[in-house]
Amino acid sequence: MSLQSNEPSGPVAEKWDKHRFEMKLVNPANKRKFEIIVVGSGLAGSSAAASLAELGYTVSCFCYQDSPRRAHSIAAQGGINAAKNYRNDGDSVFRLFYDTVKGGDFRSRESNVHRLAQVSGNIIDQCAAQGVPFARE
Ligand SMILES: Cc1cc2nc3c(=O)[nH]c(=O)nc-3n(C[C@H](O)[C@H](O)[C@H](O)COP(=O)(O)OP(=O)(O)OC[C@H]3O[C@@H](n4cnc5c(N)ncnc54)[C@H](O)[C@@H]3O)c2cc1C
Repeated sequence: MSLQSNEPSGPVAEKWDKHRFEMKLVNPANKRKFEIIVVGSGLAGSSAAASLAELGYTVSCFCYQDSPRRAHSIAAQGGINAAKNYRNDGDSVFRLFYDTVKGGDFRSRESNVHRLAQVSGNIIDQCAAQGVPFARE
């Protein structure tokens, strides 16, 4: 049996940028012709479904818990990280990438973690804009 991870090719830090660059563009007029099925309604699935619907695609989002908001994501309360690169902070995309791979016991897919670190600031902005109920106390 061969393991096919479908990970894009290239160096870890460039895999997803390269993949994005090579993807075919969709004409805005054709977006409504595609029906996209999203499996899962946690932070990943529901934000993807909301963003794709906003872009004009027809989206169906499925989950197996009683209510879409009962995904594991609602249990996360310890905090969320982003590489903001404030002056003198010593923070960087690479440090967040390394820290996250380490935090995942070196079992995460590294190219995906790098992408997460790269767009970490945008992810938090997107969550806030889409109404994720962050606890602020
Ligand atoms: C108790 C707890 C505390 C945590 N604290 C933190 C924290 O403080 N900070 C942090 O950054 N991370 C934390 N995490 C981790 C973080 O919550 C998860 O990594 C993140 O929420 C995963 O989001 P997700 O959208 O990928 O998956 P999930 O939120 O798990 O959503 C998965 C979705 O897929 C659906 N699904 C799965 N299989 C099927 C199927 N076969 N058919 C249909 N639907 C399916 C499920 O119903 C669900 O809707 C915590 C996790 C837990 C459990």
